[in-house]
Amino acid sequence: MTSRWNSSLQKKASDLHGDTWNIENDQTIEEHGQAPDWHQYISGSFAEFKCSLCRRTWGSSRVQVVFHFQLNSESRQGTIKLRCYKQECRTCSDAEWEDPNFSVENTDVLVEKLVKNIRRKCYQEHMGEWRIPSVMDGRHNGPHESAHCEACQLGICSQAN
Ligand SMILES: [Zn+2]
Ligand SMILES: [Zn+2]
Repeated sequence: MTSRWNSSLQKKASDLHGDTWNIENDQTIEEHGQAPDWHQYISGSFAEFKCSLCRRTWGSSRVQVVFHFQLNSESRQGTIKLRCYKQECRTCSDAEWEDPNFSVENTDVLVEKLVKNIRRKCYQEHMGEWRIPSVMDGRHNGPHESAHCEACQLGICSQAN
């Protein structure tokens, strides 16, 4: 899953002053819990989930993602930590928490917005007006299942009523 994020990021790498940036998955980071000198960007988009028990798939219109990022200006290495909030199947009683699957298009949009944030916060660029295509919502799939959403259980879900 991280490879899709990294290939999307490398398409934008020319915007990042020749520094090397990488995205790594880190399910331990928390909203507003970034380490000192780290920046945060929170976003979300439509994603699909698949139950590893019954193989059922479902969509969710705004799956939350949190990025924490930092530039080491001496080594010219940027690190991005990514956490995606999981959901579980509502029909299996022993369901596991499943990772969201973002389409290439939606990954690109999320990364584009992330890179704009990086340019403002790590390179002090003034971006002016942002012109970013909005995230594709995909099909609508009924009410949000708060009981089966990790972000809801943590009280930070943007889809919660
Ligand atoms: Zn299931
Ligand atoms: Zn939720």
